[in-house]
Amino acid sequence: MEYEAVIGLEVHAQLKTESKIFCGCSTRFGESPNRNTCPVCTGMPGVLPVLNRRVVDFAIKAALATNCTIQRRNVFARKNYYYPDLPKGYQISQYELPIATGGYVEIVVGGERKRIGITRIHMEEDAGKLVHEGEFEKAHHSLVDFNRAAVPLLEIVSEPDIRSPEEGGAYLRMLRDILVYLDICDGNMEEGSFRCDANVSVRPKGAKEFGTKTELKNMNSFRNVERALEYEIQRQIQVLREGGTVVQETRLFDANTGRTVSMRTKEEAHDYRYFPDPDLVPLEIDDEWVERVRKTLPELPLEKIDRFQKEYSLPLYDCQILCSSKNLADFFEEAVKLHPNPKGISNWIMAEVLRELNREKVDISETKLKPAHVASIVKLIDEGTISGKIGKSVFEEVYRTGESPEKIVEERGLVQVSDEAALEEIARKVLENHPKEVESYKKGKTGVIGFFVGQVMKETKGKANPKLVNEILRRLLSS
Ligand code: ADP
Ligand code: ZN
Ligand code: MG
Repeated sequence: MEYEAVIGLEVHAQLKTESKIFCGCSTRFGESPNRNTCPVCTGMPGVLPVLNRRVVDFAIKAALATNCTIQRRNVFARKNYYYPDLPKGYQISQYELPIATGGYVEIVVGGERKRIGITRIHMEEDAGKLVHEGEFEKAHHSLVDFNRAAVPLLEIVSEPDIRSPEEGGAYLRMLRDILVYLDICDGNMEEGSFRCDANVSVRPKGAKEFGTKTELKNMNSFRNVERALEYEIQRQIQVLREGGTVVQETRLFDANTGRTVSMRTKEEAHDYRYFPDPDLVPLEIDDEWVERVRKTLPELPLEKIDRFQKEYSLPLYDCQILCSSKNLADFFEEAVKLHPNPKGISNWIMAEVLRELNREKVDISETKLKPAHVASIVKLIDEGTISGKIGKSVFEEVYRTGESPEKIVEERGLVQVSDEAALEEIARKVLENHPKEVESYKKGKTGVIGFFVGQVMKETKGKANPKLVNEILRRLLSS
């Protein structure tokens, strides 16, 4: 029997507001513990929460960008549970009446487009953080840091429309890109500002009913979400093949082993006893508010990808990579304005530039590299002033120092040698010094031409125009 996977993802995105969701405390990361706190976010008796308007602006932005319906009247609810990082004994969230419902995110997988439904988006507060490290752990003590308590989050719940780990990864990346384009979340999974829980079940291919799902937690990268899904799908299929049944439970992903292990079953699940928070009035959102936010929406990732395909005639693959970051896309467009060779610039960015960015794990905006640099290098190569190979070494220096490529080429005397007489002289010497190789060329092993070209390049320190060298050598060898 063949099985197919059914996946729905729940994302928690930390919003980039200056202050927390129900008080004026700063959301700044990396402050000393409990510095960013006040009686409201530490849950002292008698305090009252006041909703941060920016959080609503951001939620509306996310809702519009994911094609959701904005609920003009929505309500905050208390989600009750006890944990030491939750000072009030409940989390303020939204339950029956969230701010947005019924949208979708479009993804591209294998060149095909697919819509993944969004069930709902709601606003809520984050919990604090327990610290059990070093001395404290040895002494069986834990500390609590409330800096993160009441930092605003959006929870974005997808429909069970995802059918493979690959689609899951594509959905998450697209959703992350959208939130980053909107400038409402920094999208950093490793640091926890974009987190994902995955719900997964399997069913016989063609079946209408869903199977029993498990919920996967503890994945802190896109790759790990995909790995966790791959493992869990295979595990469930095997359980069914062996005649067993899948148990509804929460499972933790272990990045070291690549496996998921049971954490708690349905029986142990919490009953949160949700009820509307009496401290907060229902939130009314009028058309004017929505329209005001709509005007601030930027071009979104998929719109940009479409435009890049049309405007620059680039392959879909290039467009997806360039548009995966707004800064990278802007960088590309600036460079093309200066030297209108879109494919040349795209190739250069996708190979050389991204290699450096990935190696250093930095954003393009954090480097010394400017669009004019890449435009100049590609131009110098296109005009035959330098070879592609020299271009790479020039690039390395530009990337490191921020110097202009023209200046580096001039100072280091890297201008390509296209002087035919000079190259012919060198080529003659190379042939004279390698009579055995010349012999085998004449016997039909024409492949040794590559060796001769290499020798000429070596003599000229890589500055010879390779096309010209090839022509000269062929001419000399056939005479
Ligand atoms: P719960 O009540 O356990 O929170 P929900 O119905 O709220 O479950 O769904 C939570 C998430 O699980 C959603 O993203 C949804 O798409 C997904 N989901 C629901 N049922 C299934 C299923 N049978 N298989 C996979 N995912 C599912
Ligand atoms: Zn506070
Ligand atoms: Mg649910």
